[in-house]
Amino acid sequence: MGKKFYITTALDYVNAEPHLGHVLEKVEADAIARFHRLKGEEVLFLSGTDEHGQKVSAAAKATSYEPLVFADEMAEKFRRLKEIFNLSWDDFIRTTDEKRHSPAVRAIWQKLVSSDDIYKKKYRGLYCVGHEAFITEKDLEDGICRDHSAAPEVIEEENYFFRLSKYSSKIESLINSGELLILPEGRRNEIISLIQGEGLEDVSFSRPSKDLKWGIPVPGDDSQTIYVWADALTSYISAIGYPEEGFRKWWPAEAQLIGKDILRFHAAIWPGMLLSAGLTLPKSLLVHGFITVQGKKMSKTVGNIIDPVELAKKYGAEPLRYYLLKEIPSSADGDFDLERFKDVYESDLANGLGNFASRVLTLGSQLQKFEADFEDIEDEVKKKIDFTKKTVEEKINSFKLNEAMQAIMALVAFGDFYVNKNEVWRVMDQGLKKKEIFNLVVILDNVSAVLSPFLPKTAEKITQNIQWLGRKTLQIKKGEVLFPRLS
Ligand SMILES: [Zn+2]
Repeated sequence: MGKKFYITTALDYVNAEPHLGHVLEKVEADAIARFHRLKGEEVLFLSGTDEHGQKVSAAAKATSYEPLVFADEMAEKFRRLKEIFNLSWDDFIRTTDEKRHSPAVRAIWQKLVSSDDIYKKKYRGLYCVGHEAFITEKDLEDGICRDHSAAPEVIEEENYFFRLSKYSSKIESLINSGELLILPEGRRNEIISLIQGEGLEDVSFSRPSKDLKWGIPVPGDDSQTIYVWADALTSYISAIGYPEEGFRKWWPAEAQLIGKDILRFHAAIWPGMLLSAGLTLPKSLLVHGFITVQGKKMSKTVGNIIDPVELAKKYGAEPLRYYLLKEIPSSADGDFDLERFKDVYESDLANGLGNFASRVLTLGSQLQKFEADFEDIEDEVKKKIDFTKKTVEEKINSFKLNEAMQAIMALVAFGDFYVNKNEVWRVMDQGLKKKEIFNLVVILDNVSAVLSPFLPKTAEKITQNIQWLGRKTLQIKKGEVLFPRLS
C-alpha cells in the first residue's frame, strides 16, 4: 500500500433530522476520499454522530424517550445516508460509544490535566442554548445571539476550564506557516484575525452535572460533565484507537471537513487540545459554507428545510450529488432551488453527459468488435484529456470541487463538439468512421474515470459498456439511458 489518507467529516449533532447541508458535507468528503482511493492510497474516511449535550436531552425529552434511545434512532438516520447517497465512509463513530469513544475522552482529559491545562474557576457568563456555549457580547446584536436569534442566559457556575490562551501564539504560527492549512483562505484569515485581535481565551470545558447530565463525567469529579465540544472533537482520534498507540497509523488526518459555523472550535480549541496532549495537528481543515433555499437560510420556522432523502427517492441520488458538487461552490455559500435543480438535471445530465454517453456508446456498438490502434488517438484529444485530469486533481487538492466538475463537463462538451465537427455519425463508402469513433470512446472512458469520485454509479454504468477483449480488441455495448428526461 502507498500513502495513507485519513479524512473526516464533522460529527453530526443528532438533535434534528439530516438535512441537505449534512449531505453536502458527506458528498464532498466522499468525492475526496474516492479520489485518493483511485490514486492507490490507503484511505480511511470517517463520519459519525455527536450525541451528548443539552439540546439532545431536550429533544429526547420532547419525544419522551430516554436520551440514548432517541440518539440510537437519530444516529441510524445519519448512518442510512451512506446507502442512500452511495457514501464510502469506512467507519462511523458515535460519541455514546462506551467502548471506543468515552475511554479516549477520559484519556485526553487526563493528558490535559497532566499538562496543567485544566483548572477550576467560578464563571459568570452569557450562555446560549443554541450554541451550547458561553458566548460574548461580540456575538450579540441588540442583546440577541446573531446565530440563534435568542437572548442568552446569564449563568454563574463553577466549571473546569481549558488553558487555551497558553497555545494562542503557537496555533497562530502553525496556521500562518501552513502546517495547519485552512481552506479557503478567507476562513484562514478569519481565524488569524480572531487570534490577533483578542488572542484565544481559556474555555469552559465542563458544566455542572445537575445542569448537564447527558454526557461523560469528568474523571474524578462526578459533579461535572465534560462539555460537548471537548467530547465531540476527540472522536477524530477515538475512532482510530486513541489512546492505544495504533492510532498513530492514521493520525494526523490529512483533511477534516467542517462547516463554517464550527471553524473556531476546529481551528482553535481542537489544535489547543492536541498541543496540550502532545499530539500533531491535522494537516488541513476544509471549510464549506451553508446551503440556502431560494436565497433564504433553511429553517423550521420558514418551513423551507429540504429533505435530501425524499429528493433522492424522486430524482436519484446521483443527480443530487451532481448538484451539490457542481452548483454549490465547495467553500462558499450556495443555493438550492428545485426549479434550478431540474434545469441543471435536464441541461447537464440528460442532455449533456447522458446524451454524450449514449451517442458514443451507440456509435461504438455499431462497430461490433474492433481493433483499437492507440496511434489513432488525435493529439488534440490527448491534450484535452491530460489537461482535464491535471485540472481535476489540482481543483480537488485545493478544495474547489465545483471547479473540478466544471472541468469534467468541459471535457463532455469537447466530446460533443468532436462528434459534430467530424460528423462521426456519417457512414462513408469505406464504412463507419472507425478512427473517430475510437477517439470518442477514449474521451468517454476518460470522462468516466475523472467523474468516478463524484458520480460513482454513473461512471460505473458507462465503463461497463466499454469492454476490452484482450489488449487491443474493444467491444462497446449500447448501454442504458443514464438520466431519463424529467418531462
Ligand atoms: Zn447562539
